[in-house]
Amino acid sequence: MIYKRSSELFQQAQKVIPGGVNSPVRAFKAVGGEPLFIKNAKGPYLYDEDGNKLIDYINSWGPMILGHAHQPVVDAIIEKTKSGTSFGTPTEIETKIAELAVKMVPNIDKIRMVNSGTEACMSAVRLARGFTGKDKIIKFAGCYHGHSDSFLIQAGSGAMTFGTPNSPGVTEGTAKDTLLANYNDLDNVNELVEANRDSIACIILEPVAGNMGCIPPKEGFLEGLREICDETGILLVFDEVMTGFRLAEGGVQERLGINADILCFGKVIGGGMPVGAFAARNEIMDYLAPVGPVYQAGTLSGNPLAMAAGLAMLTELHENPEIFKSIDEKTEYLHKGLARVMNDHDIKHTINRVGSMISIHFGDKPVYDFATSAASASLGVFNKFFHGMLDNGVYIAPSAYETWFISEALSYEDLDATINAANKVAKTL
Ligand SMILES: *Cc1c(COP(=O)(O)O)cnc(C)c1O
Repeated sequence: MIYKRSSELFQQAQKVIPGGVNSPVRAFKAVGGEPLFIKNAKGPYLYDEDGNKLIDYINSWGPMILGHAHQPVVDAIIEKTKSGTSFGTPTEIETKIAELAVKMVPNIDKIRMVNSGTEACMSAVRLARGFTGKDKIIKFAGCYHGHSDSFLIQAGSGAMTFGTPNSPGVTEGTAKDTLLANYNDLDNVNELVEANRDSIACIILEPVAGNMGCIPPKEGFLEGLREICDETGILLVFDEVMTGFRLAEGGVQERLGINADILCFGKVIGGGMPVGAFAARNEIMDYLAPVGPVYQAGTLSGNPLAMAAGLAMLTELHENPEIFKSIDEKTEYLHKGLARVMNDHDIKHTINRVGSMISIHFGDKPVYDFATSAASASLGVFNKFFHGMLDNGVYIAPSAYETWFISEALSYEDLDATINAANKVAKTL
């Protein structure tokens, strides 16, 4: 493939944008080479500035669960634009999407819209602190909750890819309120809770992790956290920015049958527009301004275009719940195909999958937390795999620590093409 125009655009971009990108992972630094500049996309395909066509497994890092430029979403945005793009006042569509979200997601009474997953998680933790009157939080190594200060401590994919698990600029004061636990390790959580009994506001986690590859919670892990929280009054916060409206209509809470106290959303809920949200039962949400004392605000929060896109997306999913089963089956098909190909070529690997999230790790040991993910990452092999797939027209995330996202737009022919590409590439690994 030729990447001439992308390369020129990247040179230009680097002069006026740090690293040429507005979010670090896009720069391809972990895998080497230069990023592709995408010109347009439709359904399961991306088209770059050089005219290359790629089967997309990133899907804007999750939001495009129905594929790119999905017609009902595009139409909703275009129609809404005609009546003005932002008013800074309440609008009816905000209530509509809130009503639908509350209907789809178990265990929530109210939801507040923000502009990104980062904002959602940051606000959720402030709310948890305000509600409990406590300062500390427990987060898990390898879980990513956006780039706000409290979370930039062993923060998974983005940060890990660059070898800066703890970002400069995060003060010691902030860092000391974030207690770090190992994913899938209840004993570790119990120790932290024992040692900090009266000062923990919440435990926040990705209930199915997706930022150190895809890592499912072990049997009993989420149940155990729920129990600890029930016994201590600590709030359980599920960061469902990735899993929400993807692993089921009601996310992980529905899929695995565990209730959290506060939920964070992003990605799918915005239909590809900048949207995040956090939600909880009344008792907690009523702590938020203007009803309660915890301040949280946003000039563009609940923006009409963003809400139109999000509402169209959620409506599609709510009215066609068979989509969730269909993408799960497509992902399982891909899983089996990739495993077959890797086994045929004797490539040591582990594939993790939950629903439509899947990741391949080039090591043969089980991957269940940050350390095992990092240990099996065999970066040289992954980078070769990444570039090989790209040259064969398959666009996967440019980092060994990212999940692939399957969209409903992918056909079985696309999946076969992907498995064939993997077969070709596996020969070279
Ligand atoms: C992507 C992501 C975020 C951050 O969302 P942004 O919209 O990028 O700020 C937070 N938590 C999880 C689990 C994510 O995957």
